[in-house]
Amino acid sequence: MRETRSFDQDQTPRPPAAAGFFSGVHREIWDDADSLLHTKPKEPQRMSESSSRQIVIFDTTLRDGEQSPGASMNLYEKMEVAQALVELGVDVIEAGFPIASPGDFNAVREIAKTVRGSVICGLARCRPEDIDRAWEAVKYAEQPRIHVFLATSAIHREHKLKMDKAEIVQRAVEGVKRAVDYCPDVEFSPEDAVRTEIDFLCQVVEAAIDVGATTVNIPDTVGYATPAHMRRVIEILRNRVPNIDRAVISVHCHNDLGMAVANSLAAVEAGAGQVECTVNGIGERAGNCSLEEIVMALKTRNDFYHAHTRVVSQRIVPTSRLVATVTGIQVQRNKAIVGQNAFAHEAGIHQDGMLKERTTYEIMRPEDVGLTMSDLVLGKHSGRAALADRAKALGYRLTGEQLNLVFDEFKELADKKKEIYDGDIAALIEQQIHGVSELWSLESYQVTSGTGKVPEVTLSVRRGSEVLSTHKVCGDGPVDAVFLAIEELTGISVVCRDFRVHSVTVGKDAQGEVMVQLEYQGELYRGHGVSTDSIEASAKAFLNAINRIASVGNGSQQPSKIR
Ligand SMILES: [Zn+2]
Repeated sequence: MRETRSFDQDQTPRPPAAAGFFSGVHREIWDDADSLLHTKPKEPQRMSESSSRQIVIFDTTLRDGEQSPGASMNLYEKMEVAQALVELGVDVIEAGFPIASPGDFNAVREIAKTVRGSVICGLARCRPEDIDRAWEAVKYAEQPRIHVFLATSAIHREHKLKMDKAEIVQRAVEGVKRAVDYCPDVEFSPEDAVRTEIDFLCQVVEAAIDVGATTVNIPDTVGYATPAHMRRVIEILRNRVPNIDRAVISVHCHNDLGMAVANSLAAVEAGAGQVECTVNGIGERAGNCSLEEIVMALKTRNDFYHAHTRVVSQRIVPTSRLVATVTGIQVQRNKAIVGQNAFAHEAGIHQDGMLKERTTYEIMRPEDVGLTMSDLVLGKHSGRAALADRAKALGYRLTGEQLNLVFDEFKELADKKKEIYDGDIAALIEQQIHGVSELWSLESYQVTSGTGKVPEVTLSVRRGSEVLSTHKVCGDGPVDAVFLAIEELTGISVVCRDFRVHSVTVGKDAQGEVMVQLEYQGELYRGHGVSTDSIEASAKAFLNAINRIASVGNGSQQPSKIR
């Protein structure tokens, strides 16, 4: 799936096996810092009780998020996510790592050319060819940014880069200078900053700002920090680096210990002005600081942090759904803010309190994150206007034609299912707007199977005005039989690499959502299908992926790594 990640910014270094290694490093990092903590801390940015500082939201869903295993997006999907991020109100979009592959380069360049309203950033290692390539891709943006990174911790210096401290500083300075020659907005990241000796970190940061870095990002690349630790790092930088006021301090936290959001908040408290995060917290390994959590924490606790963001919180849930759909990484039920249970108050004692006064158990309102109250259930008598209204409330803007198509599907669903929830409507809309042009569609199927019996399938697909049918006795089960029949009719033979079913809403008549990943000629293609019948949903998902394969064959889509 990913072939070019050997120089990934976030790749975990292989730590030596010796016990106590990290504690040794830790001591070395902090030895000379302790004395500093007894010096008078720099006055935090002065503000009145009512004033609130704006925190820059730097979204890296398309770069770090896309590096989650299996989360690769094609060009069209990346453009769609970028547009959604603008509507969400993020300040900076890290669109990719242009030198990583031609696909990454194209995606960053296309986003830079077409997406307006946010800064578009491209990542580069501290190498001339990387920086040149990043600029080639982002230069079309309304507001371009180059993000240069170089590892600074002892473990990376010794094992990965084989460079001493002086060489690191020199390389950082050269890299930032080269980027500044292209672009006034340059971010510098000392990779693995959190495990870098604090003195040396201060030295590198000062040197980068000196030659023009406008943002200095402190990554916790391996997810090693804790909130108190992160707070101290930022405080020391603010105290010790003489030119620190010339740059925005940023943090980039990973969630290996489950503290990415807490660490980012601690950094904000200590004076950081930018937080790097991803939608649904996706990213390398355990992921990144989750955008929805940091944004809602700052919004809900503005009384404490006196900080806010430009994010339109009502766009959070629709954006979360979009990212889950295009990456295939579903959100866990109990995930804060965007999980299915995040606003469900089921325990009797809580329900009683909620009915008397919502704020007894509710610190945020579901509508503030774009979740409409789901007690308004649609059914077969609901009209087009009611559907349009609900689609709008869910954050979708449909064209008249799209609305008509979704309405037809809605009516069909209402015949099978009495109560139609928001999750059902979202699934229908997403199937419609993320669908590919349908060369083949499912006309009908019938399958019989049972214990110790080879399934028997009759299946028809439509291609334009033509209907093709087959009858087979084959497969390991009904789903396998349906897949084999579709392969025969379409003449496209694939290997199924992933198959997942989950229910969209609640109840026995809930719709099943199927995601498949098919391998065809060495490339992976994703498919998605929804139905109250899980075998039909499987057939639709399989055909959806087959249609993607066919659309590439027709040259109607740019090839990229995964579709
Ligand atoms: Zn990262």
